[in-house]
Formats: sequence, C-alpha cells, structure tokens
Amino acid sequence: MQGSFHQVVKISDEARQLMLCHAIAPTPTNYSVIYWYFSKENLALTQKIDLQLATCDPLDAYFLNEVYTEFLSNTQQIEKNLLTPFEQTLSGTLAQLDNQVSSEEEALSNLAKIGQALTRLGEYKPLQSIITFLLNAVDQSKDQHKSLSNELYKACQEVTQLKDKLEKSRQEALVDTLTGLLNRRGCELKLQRLSLNDMHSSLVIDIDHFKKVNDSFGHSIGDKVIQLVADVIKENVTDADIPVRYGGEEFVVVFSNKSQKFAHTIAEKIRIAISKLKLVQRQTNTILPPITVSIGIAQLQKNMAWSTLFNNADEALYQAKGSGRNRCVLSSKHIGSTLERSY
Ligand code: GH3
Ligand code: MG
Ligand code: MG
Repeated sequence: MQGSFHQVVKISDEARQLMLCHAIAPTPTNYSVIYWYFSKENLALTQKIDLQLATCDPLDAYFLNEVYTEFLSNTQQIEKNLLTPFEQTLSGTLAQLDNQVSSEEEALSNLAKIGQALTRLGEYKPLQSIITFLLNAVDQSKDQHKSLSNELYKACQEVTQLKDKLEKSRQEALVDTLTGLLNRRGCELKLQRLSLNDMHSSLVIDIDHFKKVNDSFGHSIGDKVIQLVADVIKENVTDADIPVRYGGEEFVVVFSNKSQKFAHTIAEKIRIAISKLKLVQRQTNTILPPITVSIGIAQLQKNMAWSTLFNNADEALYQAKGSGRNRCVLSSKHIGSTLERSY
C-alpha cells in the first residue's frame, strides 16, 4: 500500500475517529483492519466491514480479529504497510501529547505563581477564583493527556513486540529446527547475496548407510546422529561460510570467495572428525558403529548457475559413494582448462 504522507495521515485520522466512535481499543490488529478499511485497497475487506456497519453488528475484537486473519496474513506486507506506518503515527502522536503535557505543566506552574501572588496581596478575589478554576481545568486536561499518552505508549510497545515476533518467525522459517543450520530456503536467500561472477565453492555431504542407523537404533538416535554431524560441520566453518541442512541426512556448505582447494581441505577435516566421533547409546550402553560421510566438492565457474554447482558436487558425491564411501571427491568438471598440481 503506497501513498503520500498526507494520505497516510488522513487514513490514520479516519481510522482513529471510527475506533473512538465504536470504542475499539487501539491494538495493532484492530488498527490494521480499520486502516485497510479506509485505504479501500482491499475491496473484500471493505465490503465485509461495510456490511457489518450496515447491519449494525458490532465492530468488536472478535469480528476484527476474524477479518485480520482472513485478509491480512502476509507478515512482511503487514509490517511494511501497516505496522511501520502505525508505529510512526503512534510515536508522532505520543510526541505531540508529551509536548502538550509539558506546556500544561508550565501553564499550571505559572497559574500557581500568579495565584500565590494574588493571595499574598489579598486583593482581586474574583481573579483568584478564576485562577483556581483554570488550575483545575488545566490539571484535569493534563491528567487526561497523560493517561492517553500512557495508553499510546503501551500500544507502541505492543507494535514493537509484534514486529520483533514477526522478524523472529521469519528467521525461524529459514532455519532447520533439528540442527540449527540454515534450511534450503535460508540457503537460497543467502546465495542471492553472492555474485555469480565471483569464485565460490561448495560441499555436498551425505551420511553413509544412514538407513542402517535408523533401522538398528531407531529414528530418535538417527536424529541425534544428524545433530552431531551438523555440530561437526559448524565447528569447521566460519561465519563467512554457509552451512545448510539440505534435506534428510544431506548437508551443503557454500564457501564464498573460496577455491575448491580450500573447500577440499575443510571437507577432509569434517570427514575425519565425523569418523572419529565416539557414540554410545546411554540407556543400553551400546556403542554405535563409526559414522562416516561421503563428500562431493565443486567450484563455481564464471556465470555458472548455483544449481549446476550443486549438481557437479552431487555427481562427485556419487563417485565418492561408488568408490567405497567415507571419502571426499572433487568434481571432474572444475576450472575447465586450468591445470592444478595434485597431491
Ligand atoms: P548412502 O550411504 O547411499 O547414502 O545410504 P543411506 O542409507 O544413507 O541413504 P538412503 O537415502 O537410502 O537413506 C537415507 C535415510 O535417511 C532414509 C530416511 O528414512 C532417513 N532420514 C531422512 N531424514 C531423516 C531425519 O530427519 N531423521 C532420521 N532419523 N532419519 C531421516
Ligand atoms: Mg546417506
Ligand atoms: Mg542421502
């Protein structure tokens, strides 16, 4: 929802008036629905509220919550188009109210001084009662503004908390809950920030004979093994790298601005560390057979698509599986004509 500042303020005012008129609490949810209603950008939402108003049914929290769930469920849109403008309007109004309270406090102090001076003089009795009247009126208005300011402050805090929650849930959607590594979607987003003109390399890591672990020790031990393998991967990469649980018992690591030679060194470290893990099933004291992984390694060539890089690493992985597992294999499709010394 775009619009000039004046349009946004106008819609905000209309929303505030309707909310005041119908005694609707200024929560982020209620405000969002009413704001959209006046913006007239969502025809179905506007019609639903018009119908409610026409039939004199209440615009209560239950109804507004229903409308919110039905029409406003895209969190990013809500944040950009509603919560942020709402937060701005609230803080602007809060600042105005606070100014008003300060002026009223100043006026009260001046009136009090004049009142005291008149009392000392013992004259102008009618003036004294006018001043007492004014003192009470300004004091009452100040109290009202203060309590309104407190309410708005609470609403502001609610908006901030809601924004934090939305951000957290967006981040959680990019992370694999079992291992804490990025998931495939998280990986895609990170890759979008890298240039395909630069040199990057990647590992595809797959646990060997993992089905046997599940079959022999159960799914929850299988899960634990996946977590431990992920931990070893985390220990061997830096913040600049992108470690991912790509699916089931398969992982990817992207090394930005690093050669496949570098990637190969890290792959070997990971492979060896995993093969040295000593795993014991606590309840039965059973020692698990060593866990091993096979790793395919590939390097992105200029303007190659990420999918091609991963396919190349995948092909190398299958060579590693085919030639006995528990090994790292470099893609044969790397660097075209460049000759590298092998060790
Ligand atoms: P290979 O050496 O050829 O990779 O053999 P493998 O047994 O590891 O490969 P396969 O693809 O046959 O089996 C992978 C198994 O991983 C099958 C699936 O049930 C299991 N799996 C996938 N995701 C999970 C998970 O989240 N937890 C557990 N415990 N098992 C999973
Ligand atoms: Mg496997
Ligand atoms: Mg697999």
